[in-house]
Amino acid sequence: MDPSITLPHLPEYEPMLIGGDWTTGASTRRIPVLDPATGRQLTTVAQGDEAEVDAAVSAASAAHRDGRWRNLPPRRRQDVLLRLADLVERDSEALAVLDTLDNGKAIERARGDVELGLQAIRHFAGTPTRMNGTVHPAGPGRHVYSVREPVGVVAAVLPWNFPFMIAAWKLAPALAAGCTVVVKPAEQTPLTALRLVALCLEAGVPEGVVNALTGDGRTGAQLVAHPEIAKVSFTGSTEVGRLIMAAAAPSVKRLTLELGGKSANIVFADADLDAAVPAAVRAVFGHSGQMCTAGSRLLVQRSVVKEFLDRMLPAVEALRIGPGLSGGVNIGPLVSQEQFDRVTGYVELGRAEGAQVAVGGEPLPGPGWFVRPTVFTEVAPDMRIAREEIFGPVAAVLPFDTEEEAIALANDSDYGLAAGVWTTDLARAHRAASALEAGTVWVNTYNEFDPAVAFGGVKQSGLGRDLGDAAVDGFTELKSITIAL
Ligand code: NAP
Ligand code: MG
Repeated sequence: MDPSITLPHLPEYEPMLIGGDWTTGASTRRIPVLDPATGRQLTTVAQGDEAEVDAAVSAASAAHRDGRWRNLPPRRRQDVLLRLADLVERDSEALAVLDTLDNGKAIERARGDVELGLQAIRHFAGTPTRMNGTVHPAGPGRHVYSVREPVGVVAAVLPWNFPFMIAAWKLAPALAAGCTVVVKPAEQTPLTALRLVALCLEAGVPEGVVNALTGDGRTGAQLVAHPEIAKVSFTGSTEVGRLIMAAAAPSVKRLTLELGGKSANIVFADADLDAAVPAAVRAVFGHSGQMCTAGSRLLVQRSVVKEFLDRMLPAVEALRIGPGLSGGVNIGPLVSQEQFDRVTGYVELGRAEGAQVAVGGEPLPGPGWFVRPTVFTEVAPDMRIAREEIFGPVAAVLPFDTEEEAIALANDSDYGLAAGVWTTDLARAHRAASALEAGTVWVNTYNEFDPAVAFGGVKQSGLGRDLGDAAVDGFTELKSITIAL
């Protein structure tokens, strides 16, 4: 372990936050929280049950109705959010260490995640005073305007890959819009979301405005089906996204869904390979491939495939694998035994489908859920390893001949989260950016995020957007008002 890191003391269990009270819940069932680098138990959390879901939603609902948050003067809400950002900054190293312990990610990445969460909180702190309405041109005798109002009680259902960052990406705009929230972190990684809601209280968010429930998918299912939830903001699998859409139907809940991806990273022959190769390695192997935007389909123009692989494969072999807290590690463990089984299963499937393992292909002996970064060549576009989200350190390299073919290959997917384009031809960059069916296109870069820029997917990668003005819009309703004067 990096000797500069201080390990936190974790209690035997981490309580939930319901209406300003920290509670361990009524059920004696506890979920173990494991360190993915060792498999060791860090602590436990409660399996939130129906009564606790109801209590948390009722607390958030009461806080919404009495207006204790949404009716504060906008500047006061801004002050609270800025204070929250200062507290996150104060605790940033502890939050990063906790995210690494809980999720396994490299500590450097965890620090970057906390920074991206912090940036989002600071960005959205400016929202309350800028949630402008519109005055519409109207005939004489009419005053017509529209205003944005908080949508109501939000259920924020979180994934395990960015436990802190996505908690912040959802909480900050929801609170900025004046909503009240019930957060449900993933069962594998509840710890930093619980810290974030504690910091909300410390910053002066009134009790009941932010609540946190722990538990597995059953807790999530009860939460999103609750009739008093107005809006579900979810990040996770497409499969669960569909279940949430169905659960939202009876009471017509608003939805933001950030789902899976199988993003194409396209390298044209005219690309600057000195930049494209290391970026392609990071795009797919960063965070051990456990990223919804992972550039897991590497489309490379045939005339440079050999040179590309000659440069890329040694770079992949040189990646350092190890516990996230060691420092200087590129590939940490996968988050869980389940994810380890899934990823190693896909590696076997790729071999069975006839693709070639150019590098990697093996798990490492335990303890911890480590898989070597793996590059498949001889991949056909209809193979499952080229179509399905693996969510691990596995890349599929597919050659193409023409720009048209590259775009067609990239768009031949049920997903549409992100895409990368590497070219020095400006016209091609714009043509490709326009033609790609994806919520985000990165040209000569990859995985850059800015809290002011909307992020989300098209097709089965989801609907609605995190970040940007669109995120705030998603936590509000537009009300139109006509006054006869
Ligand atoms: P998941 O099963 O979709 O879970 C995401 C969140 O939804 C978790 O908090 C989960 O709870 C909860 N949940 C599960 N079933 C639910 C239901 N019926 N109703 C409401 N909430 C429910 O994702 P995962 O287990 O974390 O990962 C599975 C796969 O999802 C990954 O292999 C990857 O392909 C994809 N994924 C995508 C992203 C992304 O950013 N797009 C992020 C993470 C995962 P529990 O975890 O406690 O069961
Ligand atoms: Mg799950």
